[in-house]
Amino acid sequence: MRKDLIAGNWKMHATHLDTIQMVQKLSYRLNDSDHERVDVVVCPPFTALRSAQTVIETDHLRIKLGAQNCHWAESGAYTGEISPAMLAKLSVTYVVVGHSERRHIFGEVDADINRKVKAVFEGAMTPILAVGETEQERADEMTEERVRSQFVAGTTGLTQDQISSLVVAYEPVWAIGTGKTATPEDAQNVCGFIRDLAAESSGNAADHMRILYGGSVNPGNVAAIMAKRDIDGALVGGASLDPDTFASVIRYWV
Ligand code: PEP
Repeated sequence: MRKDLIAGNWKMHATHLDTIQMVQKLSYRLNDSDHERVDVVVCPPFTALRSAQTVIETDHLRIKLGAQNCHWAESGAYTGEISPAMLAKLSVTYVVVGHSERRHIFGEVDADINRKVKAVFEGAMTPILAVGETEQERADEMTEERVRSQFVAGTTGLTQDQISSLVVAYEPVWAIGTGKTATPEDAQNVCGFIRDLAAESSGNAADHMRILYGGSVNPGNVAAIMAKRDIDGALVGGASLDPDTFASVIRYWV
């Protein structure tokens, strides 16, 4: 019922020239049946979106384009920011919102993240709302409390249809870029908890909402994570930068 989604978050890596090569190489390693099974998304830096769009459209690729962040306003005096409307014009279809690096390094708070989630929907794109606890919060057994507050605040005011098409990425902060991963069982427990939260407010829409796991996903651990009931995909950082490695993550069943 829910199609798998595997998204590569390239963070602040790859010039527009690197991006052209990376998208092309990735496309050579994927076939139509892979795309039938998985929505494949790449999220290069803003400066490379136009080049990625050109390659995808010129070569009729089935790879989808994502952005790593956006502002909530359509336009205005927000120096250095990028609006949802600007992204939509570049054929961007997914936008990561509330990544822990945005929260922790750049001070984004839940209220901003909620405005962004709504703005992404208004721009006819799909938000990938990232939530997750820090190492200290996990040690203090506050994982569910933290995830609940981020999810509830991030999704405030969404309609049931929006909850159905929302993508949530559960990313324990201590697992991002560290080589440490949650066990598949722990990841399932939190992803199941998120689906239950969505069901509390939005009923059946929760069954359609896709939930990704993120945090040091690689070709060796992805299959066990993807086998879990409430995990519908992965948000992949480091392992998405090499097209061979990323293709192995995407084709996790091979
Ligand atoms: C991320 O950036 O969202 C991420 C999960 O990174 P990594 O896969 O490198 O841990």
